[in-house]
Amino acid sequence: MMFMIGQGERTVSVGEPEPQHCPHCDEMRDFEPQLAYKYGQFDLLFGFVYGRRYQLACPACNHGWRLDRRQAEQRYGKPSIPFRLRFGFIILLGLCAALGAAYLSTMPV
Ligand SMILES: [Zn+2]
Repeated sequence: MMFMIGQGERTVSVGEPEPQHCPHCDEMRDFEPQLAYKYGQFDLLFGFVYGRRYQLACPACNHGWRLDRRQAEQRYGKPSIPFRLRFGFIILLGLCAALGAAYLSTMPV
């Protein structure tokens, strides 16, 4: 069996923009609350997420602050990470267990 393995990084908006003074631009900007995460994928079907972080980012220069994960989830709710990335690892483990069981059941006792 061959797996295609890929990985990437995504940034998703998790809430309404809020005005903050950006020290980099030295202006008021509508900072966007974001969740950034990295993910790995096997065969475009199963994946897993790691390195989650919340941040407030300036739309002009990308300067920003990291947010505390617990506070961010309370405020913006749980993030919308694609289902197969959130649960892919569990699905993969289940599949391996099922295949293993099928294989064992064909062995002579
Ligand atoms: Zn800025």
